Amino acid sequence: MMHYLDNSATTRVCPESRAAAMRCMEEDFGNPSSVHSLGIRAEELVAAAREQVAKALGCAREELTFTSCGTEADNWALFGACELMARRGKHVITTAVEHAAVLQAAKRLERRGFEVTYLSPLADGGFDFSAFEAALREDTVLVSAMLVNNEVGAVTPVRRIRERLRARGSEALLHTDAVQGFLKLPFSAASLGADLLTVSGHKIHAPKGVGALYVRRGLKLPPFVVGGGQERGLRSGTESVPLIAAFGEACRVGGRDLEGDIRHMRELREYTLEGLRDFPQVRVHGSGEAPHILSLSLRGCPSEVTIRLLESREVYVSAGSACSRGHRSHVLEAMGLSPEDIDCALRVSFCPENTREDVDALLEGLRDAAARLAPRGRRR
Ligand code: PLP
Repeated sequence: MMHYLDNSATTRVCPESRAAAMRCMEEDFGNPSSVHSLGIRAEELVAAAREQVAKALGCAREELTFTSCGTEADNWALFGACELMARRGKHVITTAVEHAAVLQAAKRLERRGFEVTYLSPLADGGFDFSAFEAALREDTVLVSAMLVNNEVGAVTPVRRIRERLRARGSEALLHTDAVQGFLKLPFSAASLGADLLTVSGHKIHAPKGVGALYVRRGLKLPPFVVGGGQERGLRSGTESVPLIAAFGEACRVGGRDLEGDIRHMRELREYTLEGLRDFPQVRVHGSGEAPHILSLSLRGCPSEVTIRLLESREVYVSAGSACSRGHRSHVLEAMGLSPEDIDCALRVSFCPENTREDVDALLEGLRDAAARLAPRGRRR
């Protein structure tokens, strides 16, 4: 039996989402720009999905634009915001623990003449407010800070950043990459106070290849992909109706009992931590604020070896993040972890479908790994 505990890398598509996509490929396959009835039906499906995603995000439909993924939405947010604000200043603040979708965009902005401050995290992965206060300048035009860190689950108090910006009289735009927080924490776009917010479908049981950017009403973000003028001219390209409809369904399903799902994932996390108390080799990283992410190191057991061993038992986890494959985690490095702990790091990430049996299988696998690779808690 498969024990999939790598839900921050991606999730299994839920039946409702799959059915919606299939319907759009087999029956309602029109192009939303066509004027005939098949086109109108496709347009209606995109509108219905936008309503579903907007409801889950607590925003207005017209504040949401579909993209091809979270990465595109992050790129668009950074490039668009800087293009819009370039005349006011050229300073950007982000964090050293962002996803590559933000970090690489920030690097490109540097090559375009922007100055970027990368805030180091606190030792538990949290957002360092005093460093932020010190970094904020009159010419700061954008602050981009992720809502939930994808490797350790640290949660950024985005609302507090907004309040600090206001208190300092800053006109900087605020972007948050909420890919790992969406339908994992109770929030709305308005409650966070962000101007721009990124979400992605495949982290919430929709297929890969669809995301969205929330753009606060009134903000005139320049388009990133230009062409036929779809998505109100903000994101050209024929809409991927199957993926968009599937995204909408996943939001509907994921929003049905968010509180219950959060409670369930948090309980599984706690249950895992309890089981890990027997392991002298285990170190847990981060403050554990997000309900669904658990970062740990099994000292003496290199991540790659442990992952293979777990895989042979049909238990699936990541080393750090799935995207950091082959590289030492920049997040754990920024948190000041030792190279040994980084090399032995594992990320366990839950979804509402996981059970205690999944955790038991994980603990058994880790026990086996520790017995083989790090007997008696030997440290490397
Ligand atoms: N931002 C974060 C925090 C992520 O975890 C990911 C994916 O792992 C992304 C952005 C990129 O999203 P996508 O895979 O949809 O491009």
